[in-house]
Amino acid sequence: MSKEPLIVTCGLGSNSTAVLVGYQERGIIPDHIIFADTGGERPETYAYKYILSAWLVKHGMPAVETIKTDLPPLYENCIKNKELPSVVYGRKSCSDKWKTRPMNKALRIKGYDNVVKVIGIDADEAHRAGESQRKWIKHIYPLLDWDWGRDECIEAINRAGLPQPGKSSCYFCPNMHGTEVRKLNHDYPNLAKKACFMEKNASLTEIKGLGRSWSWTEMLKIDDMFSEDYKQFSGTDCGCHDG
Ligand code: SF4
Repeated sequence: MSKEPLIVTCGLGSNSTAVLVGYQERGIIPDHIIFADTGGERPETYAYKYILSAWLVKHGMPAVETIKTDLPPLYENCIKNKELPSVVYGRKSCSDKWKTRPMNKALRIKGYDNVVKVIGIDADEAHRAGESQRKWIKHIYPLLDWDWGRDECIEAINRAGLPQPGKSSCYFCPNMHGTEVRKLNHDYPNLAKKACFMEKNASLTEIKGLGRSWSWTEMLKIDDMFSEDYKQFSGTDCGCHDG
């Protein structure tokens, strides 16, 4: 193992939880497990932090630390600027500003000059893995080393006796598929309404809404025309990561 501090970036979804289970099974103890809170996570994600932390501490590992940016929460920032999260415009700066940079700043404040960041990209999405753009940070991808895809991650979480985490992303994330938006509306209608208000409030010219070529508001208006297959949907991690 590296001598640099081992920092697990934990989005509180299936992949980062599986990394922690894999580490516990291999006797690897990270120095820090950090969760960057955009202020717009789902209730189940916030609740899972306590479930996972209790399991981690029971197994001699550090609890999950929450890191927050100095910026306003992402939702409020979008409302104030009459815009949508920047990923919708083809830029990644929402995850960079609300996740990556606050995490890096927190690591600097802890006094680290070099760190190894552990990122939970699984073997089914290996194309998303990449080297760090910052010289003092090295990325590692244990799920790729172990050849764990989504199924293996779910099995590992079951093996540990943990409940499966829900979808891990902002509830207004433009990367969500239609089925996920409909499930959000079913599970958390007030959050779906807030996301639709963000759409209505935004000054849009080239895109139609949070779905880019389609509007969440318009889709949810005709939700009754859809089948109920969203109830079978099992959550996935957010498309952005904290590297
Ligand atoms: S979950 Fe989506 S909206 Fe939230 S920071 Fe990541 S890309 Fe942006």
